[in-house]
Amino acid sequence: MNNLLTKDEANLCLDILEKVYPDAKCELEHDSPFELLVATILSAQCTDVRVNKVTSEMFKKYNKPQDFANMDILFLEDLIKECGLFRNKAKNIKATSKVLLEDFGGEVPKTIKELMTLPGVGRKTANVVASTCFGVPAIAVDTHVFRVSNRIGFVDEKNVSNTEKALQKVIPKERWTKAHHLFIFHGRRTCFARNPNCETCEINHICKYYGDK
Ligand code: SF4
Repeated sequence: MNNLLTKDEANLCLDILEKVYPDAKCELEHDSPFELLVATILSAQCTDVRVNKVTSEMFKKYNKPQDFANMDILFLEDLIKECGLFRNKAKNIKATSKVLLEDFGGEVPKTIKELMTLPGVGRKTANVVASTCFGVPAIAVDTHVFRVSNRIGFVDEKNVSNTEKALQKVIPKERWTKAHHLFIFHGRRTCFARNPNCETCEINHICKYYGDK
């Protein structure tokens, strides 16, 4: 347990990261909950930059469930092929659009539980959409959140599911969503998977990984 941050240290760490990344937010561009839902499905094993490139063109013409529900699957695959895993993603976007029209009046549901009933929408995607679009406190654990939060010492967990639960215990609920964005920003800009910039990192005096070096 002594390899974990105290709650005070966790809050201090988030205070510092908030100063370092005052603009930390969702980097998937979107103008509606449905656009973010589609963008998040597309972001699996793909960079946000590439997703934004694809959606910036696609959403000009197609950005509602009605547009995708009956779209020719090969046409949809072609629209999103640059994002990788395009067959599966196309199938899920189409199926999710149909469910939204049939069961939710064409609107994206606001709760994590309902979002997770949509085809291809797992807990991470549901957390991203619910927290970003509807203000539901949530910590979506992606590869950056998992790596950075475990390194710093917020948690000491071996998998994503346990990491989310442990983070919820050490971080006050009102900071969950912001913490998610801060970990991602830090993971993309400083705490890289390989060769993190520990020497210049603003939280190296708190970080357990650095302390153990
Ligand atoms: S000190 Fe290194 S390992 Fe720790 S948060 Fe900073 S970059 Fe990541």
